[in-house]
Amino acid sequence: MNIQLKTQGAPSVSRSLAGKVSLVTGSTSGIGLGIARALAEAGSDVVLNGLGVASEIARTKDRISADCDVKVSYSPADMTKPAAIREMIETTLAEHGRLDVLVNNAGIQYVAPLDQFPVEKWDAILSINLSSAFHTMRSVLPAMRKNKFGRIINIASAHGLVASPFKAAYVAAKHGIVGLTKVAALETAEQGITCNAICPGYVYTPLVEAQIDDQAKAHGISREQVIHDVLLAQQPNKRFATVEELGALTVFLAGDAAASITGIALPVDGGWTAH
Ligand code: NAD
Repeated sequence: MNIQLKTQGAPSVSRSLAGKVSLVTGSTSGIGLGIARALAEAGSDVVLNGLGVASEIARTKDRISADCDVKVSYSPADMTKPAAIREMIETTLAEHGRLDVLVNNAGIQYVAPLDQFPVEKWDAILSINLSSAFHTMRSVLPAMRKNKFGRIINIASAHGLVASPFKAAYVAAKHGIVGLTKVAALETAEQGITCNAICPGYVYTPLVEAQIDDQAKAHGISREQVIHDVLLAQQPNKRFATVEELGALTVFLAGDAAASITGIALPVDGGWTAH
């Protein structure tokens, strides 16, 4: 299977989001980085966030800015810290004067049987994958209401719609964010604001790459077998979704054509949740 980890530039999209400001949590890697790049390619200024090496983050920031001719800034806010999250939103509003598109993407994973699930991993997953979105939305909604425009896009998961064993915290958090998405959609429906969840199946990112060699060792099988028979066992189309596909979908949901789409949890899972 030919899999490509690096995010490819695709600068052919129109500048449909020119003049907008977008913030993507967890955008130093994987899906968040792909979404941030797609929003920038569509002309939006972008605030990056996430963990990582300062020099690499600075390079990413400069590259997106130069490639896409937009303003790119970075917030180091830790998504486990409500005060830092509030400060990130306040700084964005102060520096850019607005925040049009909020993408709640930061997330981590941990796999263990429920009765052996470490309490600190449960707490970390619930705070990063779910509570951080409550805190960003809580802080940004007044400004979006004032502008009579807002697009909130929560990166949930197929695990926001169905469960798998050994992923208690992840499945609980992702089902939670689908519920939170619906509440936000109902509360903002008349205010020019939409809130939707994207529910990817497996997407090839560092989070998934980290599992391939581990699983190959654990099961005594090849990487190809891990990809086909373990990771993509539930995914009928037997291919990873790409960060570019998720970026394009996010740009669509952020745009005017998606004004009537709110409160949905949209699977991007090759048929997984059609089972
Ligand atoms: P990734 O590990 O490549 O990226 C995760 C991002 O979150 C990184 O930028 C990381 O720095 C950031 N992050 C982690 N902890 C943080 C913290 N405390 N504060 C701030 N940022 C933090 O993972 P990914 O695969 O790109 O996943 C992104 C999102 O997509 C997650 O919410 C994940 O659950 C979801 N998702 C991924 C897949 C997949 O197959 N990769 C499938 C469905 C859903």
